[in-house]
Amino acid sequence: MKFTFVTLFPNLIEGYFQDSILKRAIDKDLLKINYLNPREFSNNKHSKVDDTAVGGGAGMLMNTQPLFDSLDLLKTEDENTHIVFLTPVAKPFRQNDAKRLAKKTHIAFVSGRYEGIDERVIERYADEVFSIGDYILTGGELASLVLCDAVSRNVQGVLGNSDSLNVESFESVLLEAPSFSKPKIYRGNEVPKEYLKGNHSKIRTLKIALSECKTKFFRPEQLLKHKTKENL
Ligand code: SAM
Repeated sequence: MKFTFVTLFPNLIEGYFQDSILKRAIDKDLLKINYLNPREFSNNKHSKVDDTAVGGGAGMLMNTQPLFDSLDLLKTEDENTHIVFLTPVAKPFRQNDAKRLAKKTHIAFVSGRYEGIDERVIERYADEVFSIGDYILTGGELASLVLCDAVSRNVQGVLGNSDSLNVESFESVLLEAPSFSKPKIYRGNEVPKEYLKGNHSKIRTLKIALSECKTKFFRPEQLLKHKTKENL
């Protein structure tokens, strides 16, 4: 699986792949990371990539020419590149999207900067557009990394134990039950006794009850939606 980060600031992204699970996946050739900097495509003699907004408005926008040229090259080199733009105004990215995108062969993430990207670029090249939440970041790089990380975990072979994918939160209605590591008692804090007794059926029942409590507390609307569907 190949990812291309289309960004004015590749340095902000590179460090993330220098350790841990994603680095191992790159070393095993399961993932390939590529960068494309629109500044290198700018026809402007000062390599400018931004301009003021037509019709007025605060701040600068990433303008058309460097992005059109860089994305044209991307599509010419690989017409199957799935181009994803990051913007706070789009639909929120979800676990289902991560699983679906993990089946693509090449995804390019386009990060905006300044006050965003000239809309014509998005209209011309976007296969999909995502937000990572209702807040404004200074640029799309963090958002691209969030998507890349979430997608990568679903690429075959990236996680050592792919079983863990099936029990994680957002795989079902209920959030994942609380987990505990060793020691069994730490500074007077014990893990639930049922977890220690080795009766797997009882542990499973307790975990489901705890999952329900967690979901009710953190995501009551999710549980309500599920219960309403059950009663239809
Ligand atoms: N003026 C834009 C607005 O109000 O919608 C915000 C632009 S923001 C300062 C610059 C860039 O950061 C955006 O083009 C986008 O790529 C990225 N960005 C900011 N917040 C984001 C979010 N919540 N999700 C995804 N991308 C985001």
